[in-house]
Amino acid sequence: MAKYVFVTGGVTSSLGKGIIAASLAKLLQARGFRVTIQKFDPYLNIDPGTLNPYEHGECFVTEDGAETDLDLGHYERFLNISTTQANNVTTGRIYQTVINKERKGDYLGKTVQVVPHITNEIKRRVQLLGIGNEYDIIITELGGTVGDIESLPYLEALRQLRWELGSDNCIVVHLTLIPYLSAAKELKTKPTQHSVKELLKTGIQPDILVCRSERPITQSIRRKIALFCNVEMGAVIQAIDAETIYDVPMLMLEENLDRIALAKLRLLEKRDPELSKWKSFLQKHKNPKSEITIGLVGKYNELQDAYKSIYEAFIHAGASNECKVKVEPIHSEAVTPENAAEHLSHLDGILVAPGFGERGIDGKLHTAQYARENGVPYFGICLGMQCAVIEYARNVLKLDDAHSTEMAPDTQFPVIAMMDEQKEITNMGGTMRLGSYPCTLKRKTVIQQAYRSLKINERHRHRYEFNNQYLERFEKAGMRASGFNPATNLVESVEVKDHPWFVGVQFHPELKSTVEEPHPLFVDFVKAAKAKKGK
Ligand code: GLN
Repeated sequence: MAKYVFVTGGVTSSLGKGIIAASLAKLLQARGFRVTIQKFDPYLNIDPGTLNPYEHGECFVTEDGAETDLDLGHYERFLNISTTQANNVTTGRIYQTVINKERKGDYLGKTVQVVPHITNEIKRRVQLLGIGNEYDIIITELGGTVGDIESLPYLEALRQLRWELGSDNCIVVHLTLIPYLSAAKELKTKPTQHSVKELLKTGIQPDILVCRSERPITQSIRRKIALFCNVEMGAVIQAIDAETIYDVPMLMLEENLDRIALAKLRLLEKRDPELSKWKSFLQKHKNPKSEITIGLVGKYNELQDAYKSIYEAFIHAGASNECKVKVEPIHSEAVTPENAAEHLSHLDGILVAPGFGERGIDGKLHTAQYARENGVPYFGICLGMQCAVIEYARNVLKLDDAHSTEMAPDTQFPVIAMMDEQKEITNMGGTMRLGSYPCTLKRKTVIQQAYRSLKINERHRHRYEFNNQYLERFEKAGMRASGFNPATNLVESVEVKDHPWFVGVQFHPELKSTVEEPHPLFVDFVKAAKAKKGK
């Protein structure tokens, strides 16, 4: 039977619950346990797919096509495993399931209530990943902060589950904050005490406290926290601000988080953690031999989380190239033909980001043109590929005002057009072309050399697509399609001839980059940018 670890948060949001959960999972995995992580989000959207990135950061897409919370990206990057729809559940989905059952008559005659119907559905979802006996340990991160009204049903479900499974099979790690008051020159434990009391009110005694802090937590403070929060002294763990999120597993190892969790779950330690790949990544990441600057041209740049996986993929690819990749956010709305050089001429490479809608499109088109004409390595992802195609149509094929039907439904030259399967769809949620699809690469292309393979699988999230009616004209003029979906012939990647590195992909390679397996396209792009800088 799988054992369960719950990670809850107190005092404030943004303490990095996802990173702590992923770090614990990494350490347990490194000790030879089969581990997965799931996240429960207390909002009413069915999934974050319909949320603006400003609201919720990037929408992470899984292999099986679920639109999920960006914490799943951390889980995959840390654990080097794939997650699925079952790894991210929202309150919206829980209610939807219960209400659908009610309409079907499954509860006929009964009053449907938060307790027991919603809490039962939460418990069912928590245990879903345990069914196939695939995992020894399942870590469940509860979104939100203890004390929030919307978190209550989750905490009640957790309380019940703990009672049902026994506290050896189900433990609670509570993440809190120990603020430093500079006026008093002191670390303060009171917010943590209050937060644990709040948790106790729901009937849950945490087993382990992970305390975020800017400064080291002394033994006497640990003792105080242990005494007032009723946890073992050794189970009060400090999580000091780290230089990089990838240090956190090592910091948690020093604090014995994994060993304490195993002891509480009554599991034997099996072996010392095998972290050689992780350490070698950290070593390279922290000791780069060169440095490059990549411009990330997008419209959600005010919020780094909107492009989370892209930033992380550059960290992995940078380490693999022993090169520091400085990513400079550039607002697409700011780029015009007149000032393009001012914004872009100092860059060693340019990535045009995924996106939706009209805003910022012109700047992306000018950026693609600048990169193409000036031999700057260009990497277009999803909308970034579509922009490269539109720009090429306008400026090389001379198809004036060519566009995507997303921005210009009546364009005379729809070089990017809505996929046929999308035309009848009216619902917005979960209806794009989502998840992993195979792609066949053409020999002797940049992309095929980067992957060193002819068949790849990558994840998608889009409604529009290269219009194959124009393919011949593009290829004649020097932009070739280098990857195709074998079943539908959809163009999945394009590249420009006689350019050092100009690749556009319809899929999202950033979603598959991990610490232990940096994505080959990012690795190759960084290599090309390094070469450009060297010239
Ligand atoms: N808006 C474009 C489409 O739907 C691109 C989507 C994306 O960049 N993820 O096809």
